[in-house]
Amino acid sequence: DYYQKLADLDKKHFLHPTTSIKQQQENGPEFIFTEGKGVRLYDLDGRSAIDGLSSLWNVNIGHGRDEIAQTAYDQMKTLGYSSCFATFSNEPAIQLAAKLAEIAPGNLSATFFTSGGSESNDTAYKLARHYWILKGQPERKKIISRSKSYHGVAMGATSATGLKPFRDFTNSLAPDFCYVDHFSPEALREKIESENPETVAAFIAEPVQGAGGLHIAPEGFFKEIRKICDEYGILFITDEVITGFGRTGTYFGMDHYDVAPDMMCFAKGVTSGYAQLGGVMISEDIHKDLIELSEGTLLHGYTYSGHPMACAVALKNLEIIERENLIENSRLMGLELLNGFKQVQKQRSIVGDVRALGLMGAVEVVKNKKTNERFEDPLAPKIVTEAAKRGLICRSVVFDQQDTVVFAPPLTINQGEIKELIEILNDAILAVEKTVAT
Ligand code: PLP
Repeated sequence: DYYQKLADLDKKHFLHPTTSIKQQQENGPEFIFTEGKGVRLYDLDGRSAIDGLSSLWNVNIGHGRDEIAQTAYDQMKTLGYSSCFATFSNEPAIQLAAKLAEIAPGNLSATFFTSGGSESNDTAYKLARHYWILKGQPERKKIISRSKSYHGVAMGATSATGLKPFRDFTNSLAPDFCYVDHFSPEALREKIESENPETVAAFIAEPVQGAGGLHIAPEGFFKEIRKICDEYGILFITDEVITGFGRTGTYFGMDHYDVAPDMMCFAKGVTSGYAQLGGVMISEDIHKDLIELSEGTLLHGYTYSGHPMACAVALKNLEIIERENLIENSRLMGLELLNGFKQVQKQRSIVGDVRALGLMGAVEVVKNKKTNERFEDPLAPKIVTEAAKRGLICRSVVFDQQDTVVFAPPLTINQGEIKELIEILNDAILAVEKTVAT
């Protein structure tokens, strides 16, 4: 049949991102999605599932928005593309840059546009290093990141990613990257000292670590980090690729911590995935310095920096987020989600810590609730498989001896849908629990 035909073509011709090639060859695609509406995805076989991860943490306003399709159509019809190099600009890119300056934390005021999170990260490292060249401190080039961080897969972003398997995928990385323990300001201070503070350009961190297992920073952590960065004159870059645009119940993750970053990377939720767009914002101070000190050309730019259709889609997406109060909904439904996790934790013997900030949440699997001992073979992937069978898409994290299921549903999710998500999760965990003796 048609499904099988497509599955065969998929196996033969399609190299999937972040996928086990062996499993793809054995099983083919589990779902071939054809439609999305609200929090649900529908596949070619007529099955439907709650998109519990907003696909890749990005479909913040939910699937199937006519308004966005219309905006993209209108923009493509009038000006599908034009360059933003040199003296050229376009209306949606200008308007979006201005809008971002309005909503971003601290005094971030100017945006460099990219096509996604990895490009944004590579851009941030280059801009930070370029900044120090202009400031007469070219030896400041090291970028410090955290041990469980994920910053993407471009060469700089891979090099900054703390999760070792991503770095081990290739055998040569970009120089001048180093890593510190994920929640220890003291470790950052020691690292800066041991590397020589005058060689450090920037420290980068995700407000809530996503791909690394959904780790929420403890109270006061980022204030401490900001203090240390200031003390040594190091730039603080926040990677808001997942946490931006309402995901955690505030506009940006850093808003929870009331800390002003020097630079901010964003992508994903800026368009809710309807168009490929990311960017780096820089503070007003850095912008002023660049204007004052820069003599040559800013020799960094992508063909699609400031793509008019992507920027128009982003503007409409932000309008929807604000009009429908989706940031507040993220906060409220995040509390519902956490309550649901706590019920599951009570009912199931293999659930350890549960946590959520807005609509970013995690459930940890443990062999022993008291000691937090893990199963030798992680069970989270099995739970994810059982959940998918029952119509819920979520993701497992098993890096670094973790055994965690993570969630990030669309910010439009309602109480009924949260209830459904929790019921399926509970059933999926029960199915796996029955296979192990605890
Ligand atoms: N930074 C963070 C925190 C991310 O979670 C991701 C992707 O998940 C990236 C960067 C990379 O973004 P992209 O996949 O758009 O290149």
